[in-house]
Amino acid sequence: MSSKNRSTAPSQNLDLPYFSELENSELNLAIDQLIHTFLRQSRVTSDRSLEELEQGLLLHEIPEEGQSESAIVKELKELIMPHAINTGSPCFIGHMTSILPNFIRPLAKLIASMNQNVVKLETSKITTLYEKQILATMHKELYHHPDEFYQNPFQSGQTLGVITSGGTLANLTALECARDKSLEAFGNIEELGVHAGLNKAGFTKSVVICSQLGHYSLKKSLGLLGIGRNNLVTIPTDSNQRINLQLLRKTLDSCRAENVHVTALVGIAGTTECCSFDPLDQMAKLAEEYGIHFHVDAAWGGAFIFSKKYKRLLKGIDRADSITIDGHKQLYLPMGMGIVLFKDPELARLISTEAQYIIRHSSKDLGKVSIEGSRAAHAIYLHAALKLIGRSGYERIFDKNIALTDRFSGEIRKKKEFQLITTPQANIFLYRFLPPEFRGQKSFSIIDNKTIDTFNIQLQEAQSQQGRTFVSRTLFRQLDGTTIVALRVVLANPLTTLRHCRQVLYDQLEIAAKLDS
Ligand SMILES: *Cc1c(COP(=O)(O)O)cnc(C)c1O
Repeated sequence: MSSKNRSTAPSQNLDLPYFSELENSELNLAIDQLIHTFLRQSRVTSDRSLEELEQGLLLHEIPEEGQSESAIVKELKELIMPHAINTGSPCFIGHMTSILPNFIRPLAKLIASMNQNVVKLETSKITTLYEKQILATMHKELYHHPDEFYQNPFQSGQTLGVITSGGTLANLTALECARDKSLEAFGNIEELGVHAGLNKAGFTKSVVICSQLGHYSLKKSLGLLGIGRNNLVTIPTDSNQRINLQLLRKTLDSCRAENVHVTALVGIAGTTECCSFDPLDQMAKLAEEYGIHFHVDAAWGGAFIFSKKYKRLLKGIDRADSITIDGHKQLYLPMGMGIVLFKDPELARLISTEAQYIIRHSSKDLGKVSIEGSRAAHAIYLHAALKLIGRSGYERIFDKNIALTDRFSGEIRKKKEFQLITTPQANIFLYRFLPPEFRGQKSFSIIDNKTIDTFNIQLQEAQSQQGRTFVSRTLFRQLDGTTIVALRVVLANPLTTLRHCRQVLYDQLEIAAKLDS
């Protein structure tokens, strides 16, 4: 490839073609071709096992001299892309990651090319303002304060929310605020550390309370925040996989009696395992009564706010002190996009940090409150998606996915080869395969369940390895406290139809027949 270095003086002899602004159209064409091939395949992935792939991977030595682009294209085409997962396949119905709208690709190119860093205004300018504006839009959607409230979302010291790399960081940010706020009277926890704060306040320890279906990011957060992973108190769920309110109240009372500090109560709007919705309204009431920060983890289910029919699942979410929503889940944005919103724009003041060379006291830099430092201008994706898809576009996707979930789970319920484990409340549910000797049985002994578990593990692994269709697998805790292996369906891809769902079952029956023989 010829290089035309158009700059002057010192760099003249670098002989590196890559820093001119001339576009490399050959590479562009080749990459576009790879993308089309990848997205058009009907399979989920190749049938190559991880062990085989590991063996084929040699240690990459850094070449002394830069190599040709065709070498990279060849590697992508032959070694990487066939063995990655086509998360956009309509038969990939086991995880929260699915297809992206096609406008994301050109936008990704633009965002990468502009290379803004929204950590500070000096490297982002209007893109920081856009982020604040889009956060105000989301805030209004969830909290619907009066219009005056949103007139100037750009004031320094006012934080309606933070865009993060995902739900994990969004939950961490919310809990950090909750921790600092709840101990504010005893000092600045960011400076003192949580231990000193608890000591001063006379508490023995601090806990966070959620249902047993809380996402594991909460545990990680508690480790990071110095509260301790063991101090996530999980409350059993009822027959609808919602937090048991009586047990919750009992736990709150015993925390009080034992002088245990409660950093936050977390309600889940769309559990990762089966998309159940905690009774947010009642939880908010309890949190108010006990004077505790109420966080709602709506990483998955928050987006249902756009559906007139299903926003009822989120009733009470506007009473939360903070809310997590994932952009890269049901807002159909690319990986690396979460959102945390704060009811009170002053809350995040407690976690803000200043640095002389970069973030000064009165600045409006986003890096002041964000746990992450350098960040891309991902707000552009969110802005574009809300504009292009629109409220009713999202609504149609959710309504369709939930209706499909009802039909598919209904079919499973009727089949003797399968057992439905959770009745869907939205678009995720659990079921399992029943080997012939267990069909028609109403209840299962622990030994029965062991046998069925083993079979379902083998079945799920074989299906995953085959690479044509996919559901995931989890351990489901039953009301009696015992656990069983369950297959997990997530219907998020707008292109998935009942035909694809049936294909998943068909593959399972075929694999099961082989496993049995
Ligand atoms: C996915 C999920 C998270 C974590 O989000 P990431 O984007 O994977 O970090 C947290 N909570 C719930 C309920 C989730 O479903």
